[in-house]
Amino acid sequence: MKITIDGKEVIAEVGQTILEVAREAGIYIPSLCWHPRTGPSARCRACVVEVEGMRGLVTACHEKAADGMVIRTDTEQVQSVRRSVVELQLSSGNHDCLACEACGNCELQDMAYRLGIESPPYLIDQETPEADESSEGIIIDHSRCIHCGRCIEGCNSGVMHEVLAMGNRGNDSRVICDNDRPMGESSCVQCGECAQLCPVGAIIYKTARGKARNWEVERRRTVCPYCGVGCVIDIAVADNRYLWAEGCEHNWENLPNQGMLCVKGRFGLEYVNHPDRLTKPLIRKNGELVETSWDEALDYVADRLAQIKSDHGGGAIGCLSSAKTTNEENFAMQRFARAVIGTNNVDHCARLCHSSTVAGLATTLGSGAMTNSMQETLDTDVFLITGSNTTWCHPVFGGLIKRAVKRHGKKLIVVDPRENDLAKIADHYVRQRGGSDVAWLMGVQRIIVENGWHDEDFIKEHCEGWDDYRESLEAFTLEKVEEISGILPEDLEAIARMYATGGTAAIYFSMGITQHTHGVDNVKAVANLALICGNLGKRGGGVNPLRGQSNVQGACDMGALPNVFSGYQKVTDVIVREKFARVWGVEPSSLDDQVGLTVTQMVQECGKSIRSLYIMGENPMLSDPNLNHLEQQLGKLDLLVVQDIFLTETASRADVVLPAVPFTEKTGTYTNTERRVQLARRAIPPLAGCRQDYEIIAQLAARLGVDNFPRTPDALFAEIKQLTPSYHGMTYERLDDVGLRWPCPTEDHPGTAILHSEGIIRGRGQLSPLAYRPPAESCDGNYPLLLSTGRMLEHFHGGSMSRRSVVLDHIAPHAVVEIHPDNASPLGINDGEMIDVETRRGKITLRANVTEAVDRGMLYIPFHFVEAAANRLTSDALDPVSKIPEYKVCAARVSRSESP
Ligand code: SF4
Repeated sequence: MKITIDGKEVIAEVGQTILEVAREAGIYIPSLCWHPRTGPSARCRACVVEVEGMRGLVTACHEKAADGMVIRTDTEQVQSVRRSVVELQLSSGNHDCLACEACGNCELQDMAYRLGIESPPYLIDQETPEADESSEGIIIDHSRCIHCGRCIEGCNSGVMHEVLAMGNRGNDSRVICDNDRPMGESSCVQCGECAQLCPVGAIIYKTARGKARNWEVERRRTVCPYCGVGCVIDIAVADNRYLWAEGCEHNWENLPNQGMLCVKGRFGLEYVNHPDRLTKPLIRKNGELVETSWDEALDYVADRLAQIKSDHGGGAIGCLSSAKTTNEENFAMQRFARAVIGTNNVDHCARLCHSSTVAGLATTLGSGAMTNSMQETLDTDVFLITGSNTTWCHPVFGGLIKRAVKRHGKKLIVVDPRENDLAKIADHYVRQRGGSDVAWLMGVQRIIVENGWHDEDFIKEHCEGWDDYRESLEAFTLEKVEEISGILPEDLEAIARMYATGGTAAIYFSMGITQHTHGVDNVKAVANLALICGNLGKRGGGVNPLRGQSNVQGACDMGALPNVFSGYQKVTDVIVREKFARVWGVEPSSLDDQVGLTVTQMVQECGKSIRSLYIMGENPMLSDPNLNHLEQQLGKLDLLVVQDIFLTETASRADVVLPAVPFTEKTGTYTNTERRVQLARRAIPPLAGCRQDYEIIAQLAARLGVDNFPRTPDALFAEIKQLTPSYHGMTYERLDDVGLRWPCPTEDHPGTAILHSEGIIRGRGQLSPLAYRPPAESCDGNYPLLLSTGRMLEHFHGGSMSRRSVVLDHIAPHAVVEIHPDNASPLGINDGEMIDVETRRGKITLRANVTEAVDRGMLYIPFHFVEAAANRLTSDALDPVSKIPEYKVCAARVSRSESP
């Protein structure tokens, strides 16, 4: 379509509004209420234009472009309406631009400037309420509000928190939270979307106030360092310091976060400026960690590693890589372990979160990754979400699911022992007993098969193992499943019917499924369900493990695992070893041909076959299970080296601590949960005294006699590209915009949004016969409650980053244990009181949160708090295949605490 705007002929797509076409063509039409991410509301009339043949003025945000349309944006009549819009806004409230945080980035100020309005021609005497400064991160200054409604639209239809509304009427109307509560006392989760969308200075980030004027600020694009959603962030930088963060809006429709952020991405990045940052290497002398030079620290580490290797062999050293660091750094760490130390003892925290997924899905489907993408929520008819507290652990994606369900009528099934936010809006929500997942999943499948709801054609064409699988379903009768899981037969039937007959269904799961001694079986049961209903290889379907940390998918892809090189190429394959040896310039025989130890096995072997651990960016002393035991084990090492940005609980026990840099100070790629590889470029220079992880690894390698170790992110990525088939087609240039999803085999390949679309990668999907196995530990008279651990919205992992961010730490300052009123009351435990929680491994004291979110007989503790470390309690019983610990189930007891 061709239209003419102010005499200029421009091309328009069908469905585009005049405003969208004009903006694309670089023609200025102002808008106060319209925003690309909230769409039109035609409230402000700032965007009026003249259209030939139409009576009166039309709002460009609303009017669709039509072929041949002739539009004028700057006629006298248009300018007059715009003037009156601006003058009316300026006539009341507080528009003292010099004192306003938005000055220089204000759409009203910009309109006034372009129209030559220096001051309003009249003033309306009107009282406005006090600014609301009650929340931790956001200020609402009603006196600057222009009632455009963008914040309300973003809150209710974008991030889907549904907190904001326009309250009162006429001159008294103003933005309110919930039923007119101060924001800090409302249900607002402080995601900050309202402030990002505000066109003026009415809603601002409290933490940004007074930091810099807008013209002093540069916006630099990077990737959020927290969860696996991989939100693309624009960070504001001045004087090479991080100031604040906003969701990236460039090409927002094609980004995983669509311009949005959660509270962690918005307010959780302050840690990069924290005074606790390590800036000098530390070395233990006379039992104390003391500052030293880089040369002394690196020489010492290299000498000790060389000595241990010479005395005990490379297998006496273990390397822990990190899901918080880049692909390049993970690749460097596994290259260091394999080509410099000569061991496959390299692993990372995926062992503790999704190793069951990798093992279970690789066996059944041929790939351990998420099959589909987060952009497909509107193509899904039925969501089955289990073992994932999505709105806390993957908040922006949780919002997209909420939007699909509440605004687009998609169906939602939630199966989880804890009633989370999505459970509250689910069509079917049931609680299963902890550790009963194989039973209910196979029970659902038995119902599907008995009713003939399965996809016979898909099974015949794409699956194998039907007979054994079908036979194993017999054990999962309705009665048996109810006995094991507590799920009523009618609920099980309703879930089976909705999943199998409701259209294209997608399963999303996370650590509630994986962190069990039968985690691999759980994942196989999930894969079975998708396979028998033919929900693979198509838009909106799939088996979708939500990965926890920003680069846990990438760390796996890069071969920071004991059994595979990058791209999941087996270390036991001689051809593969030869390929890597050739590029790395080492003898193939120098590469270890045996599968190495997992992190959980390394811990058990400390002081025996393992003499040294080199840990990059991980804090096992908070994140690993059974911490008391771990502490003893670490104490048995000859050498513990930790590379991190803070003196974490693990670093404080090290012999040498090497100061690294956070994400803002490095260039590299991250692979999010949907296999999207994204490039983040350095936004600020490294803090003086710190070095990048890959740089430290290369310097150690040089001291150990390896001179050809890549020394830049580009050089490392070139090796990744060369050696990793699924990354062959990627270059930094190609990744720069919205990234690419692997597999991307050639430089003209567009990347792969949906796996298995040309047949199951494994060849045929393996249907797995399964039997129910109970958890390793069960409740008894001494320990009558079942403890589960996990995350909370405001904090992350060991808390070393999120707890050093003021807003997050103020919103969630304490460790809490959730306990059902029926369990709290007989023990005289009131909400907010300190209680002791004890298991067979330890005891911690923390506040009780008496809530029906948890089931009777269940406790839930987030594991982020060092002062009440949940992992002092958890069990280190392992899944026999994946070696994942059983974080989700252990037996516990509670009592009122003597502590204040
Ligand atoms: Fe996005 Fe996750 Fe970061 Fe939140 S924590 S901003 S959802 S990547």
